[in-house]
Amino acid sequence: MTSAGTTEPGSSTTIIGAGLCGLAIAYRLQQAGISTTVLEANDFAGGRIQPAGDHDSHQDLGPTWVWPYAQPVVSQWVNELGLTLFDQFDSGNGLFDRSANESATPHPLPSQHGIARITGGTHSLIKKLVSNVAVPVKYNHVVTDCTPQDGRWHLQIKHSTESESQVTSTQITDHLIFATPPRLTAAMLPPNITSLAEVRRTLEVAETWMAPHAKIVVFYNTAFWREAGLSGRVASQVGPLTEIHDHSGPDGTPAALFGFSGVPANIRAEAGEHFVEAIQQQLARCFGNDAPAPNKIIVKDWAFEQWTTTEADRNGSGLHPPVLQETVRQPHCDNSLWFAGSETAATGAGLIEGALVRADEVAQQLIKLSRA
Ligand SMILES: Cc1cc2nc3c(=O)[nH]c(=O)nc-3n(C[C@H](O)[C@H](O)[C@H](O)COP(=O)(O)OP(=O)(O)OC[C@H]3O[C@@H](n4cnc5c(N)ncnc54)[C@H](O)[C@@H]3O)c2cc1C
Repeated sequence: MTSAGTTEPGSSTTIIGAGLCGLAIAYRLQQAGISTTVLEANDFAGGRIQPAGDHDSHQDLGPTWVWPYAQPVVSQWVNELGLTLFDQFDSGNGLFDRSANESATPHPLPSQHGIARITGGTHSLIKKLVSNVAVPVKYNHVVTDCTPQDGRWHLQIKHSTESESQVTSTQITDHLIFATPPRLTAAMLPPNITSLAEVRRTLEVAETWMAPHAKIVVFYNTAFWREAGLSGRVASQVGPLTEIHDHSGPDGTPAALFGFSGVPANIRAEAGEHFVEAIQQQLARCFGNDAPAPNKIIVKDWAFEQWTTTEADRNGSGLHPPVLQETVRQPHCDNSLWFAGSETAATGAGLIEGALVRADEVAQQLIKLSRA
């Protein structure tokens, strides 16, 4: 049942999206004494950053890596939040998986030197921010559209009550920040404001990085491949996983691998359980029939995540995002409207780095405005 009509108490600044970017903006504004509200469609924070298993695991269903030698902003946030990095395990030969009918062959693969992981997983960034951000994050709050009225933004929100009935409400805010994937942002914009036409067009064609992909995390009792002198890496021409990497904790426990699928999203969906069977067959082909069986396989299919991926993203190129036009990095509507989220960044677009670069930029602009 849906009922309509209430107006929630307004806050002067509202952020849509409690992914890394939205939370980091809230954190920076909180440090500057600016009160915010964060509206999040899911019943949890993190967006594309989610743990594989419990919140203390080192494994992630979304991003795995950071590149500290080339990502100063990630490095700065990792230090500031009291987190640490460890090297991606890459000792020993990789495996080259050429044919579905033959065993994979050991082969040196290009070095992953300098690729790092965050101790406790990339979801540690989210855990730290959620525990440090004292502003209200309103979960299960889906923003459907926004309209400017009398110099303020009126947000239409759908959310569930304790009795689980669906209600709609309106939140009114002076400053509005989108920290949502580009096409989802475009769908929330008012259609008839000429000054937003260019930014809307830019966002409508911008792909969300990794949205068409599935990440597969495979847990084992031991990192048996390390004992066999293998790095755990596989380069495959036949799949279903095109690449596989070691995903164990810093000391090798818990032992895990992860891979990305090369199978298109619609075929993955049709395959259902057969997709997991094909992964098991590939693992046996690569590591040998005598290799220990996995004790858990988690398939996280991002192509079907409602608050990450649109239909256009699902069938998108999957290529690394280009730098979007400058209009997405400019404030709009008399400094009342900002676009954030990783894909809007001029450096590190699509990556954790991009999400944090944009968070710092947007927060700085708002802080400057509040002090003008
Ligand atoms: C499988 C995978 C692997 C990746 N690997 C790496 C990697 O190794 N290294 C790296 O740097 N990056 C990697 N990335 C990218 C990285 O995850 C993203 O750059 C980063 O998490 C983006 O953060 P964000 O806050 O900009 O967006 P998101 O995480 O997408 O957050 C957006 C938030 O907005 C919410 N939302 C959406 N619509 C609404 C609405 N209407 N109302 C309210 N809330 C809404 C969503 O629920 C979500 O919480 C990977 C991503 C995936 C999926």
